[in-house]
Amino acid sequence: MDFTLKTYKSLLQAIKDSGYAFQTFEDFIKNPKEKVVVLRHDVDERPYNALKMAELESYMGINSTYYFRIVKISNNPDIINKIVDLGHEIGYHYEDLSLNNGNVEKAAISFRNNLLYFRSYYPVSTVCMHGSSFSGIDNRKIWEHHSLEEFNLIAEPYLSVDFSKVFYITDTARRWDAGKYSIRDTVKGDFNLSFHSTKDIIRSLRNNDFPNQAIIQSHTLWTNNISEWLWLEVRERIRNPLKLVLNNFPPLRNLMYYFTKKVSS
Ligand SMILES: [Zn+2]
Repeated sequence: MDFTLKTYKSLLQAIKDSGYAFQTFEDFIKNPKEKVVVLRHDVDERPYNALKMAELESYMGINSTYYFRIVKISNNPDIINKIVDLGHEIGYHYEDLSLNNGNVEKAAISFRNNLLYFRSYYPVSTVCMHGSSFSGIDNRKIWEHHSLEEFNLIAEPYLSVDFSKVFYITDTARRWDAGKYSIRDTVKGDFNLSFHSTKDIIRSLRNNDFPNQAIIQSHTLWTNNISEWLWLEVRERIRNPLKLVLNNFPPLRNLMYYFTKKVSS
């Protein structure tokens, strides 16, 4: 079974065995190692799963980066504190522009306040956009009017990395090759590599043909709980084609975004 904590552990072990170092995103930006994997986690929901991943990584001597959203479905103070205590980096998974219906000035004010909030747990120096796939608004557009420096930030994964040198892979849509199902979580890289399952990545690592520098983005849908695993499998199979269909019907998509906003906040 893919996307279980057991599989995640095998992935981490394969990365370790292949001689890679692990760096948090902020450390990678400041002083990138030559052979390195950055584990990035977007905590869109299910923060309790984030804690389990963080504990496993910590047990294996690995530090990674967790981006939390401001909405209730992600933002769990107790869990954020525990993940900080385990030695991981915390960042802000921002969506201020879509939450403020595209109003840049309102978004900048809410971004500043939310960043301050997360800085009460950890000296946040990096932020990462939330894709808000049901919204018509790209949260990164805030950077057309503001700069990271203005907020004392050093990097944003989608804006600050040279993807011709750093391989990026994400488990969006509960697979490693989401392609069309990934509305915004994509980058333009030079690597002609594609993986479907975690086993494929492990095989590539064992064969020494995995790139030297990589950012592996995994959401918090990895679980050993069989009923949760099954539910997520079904939900993703419905949600991903739905994202595509709704993307072609903006009024319906906006209605869906309104509904998901209500549920998550
Ligand atoms: Zn997200």
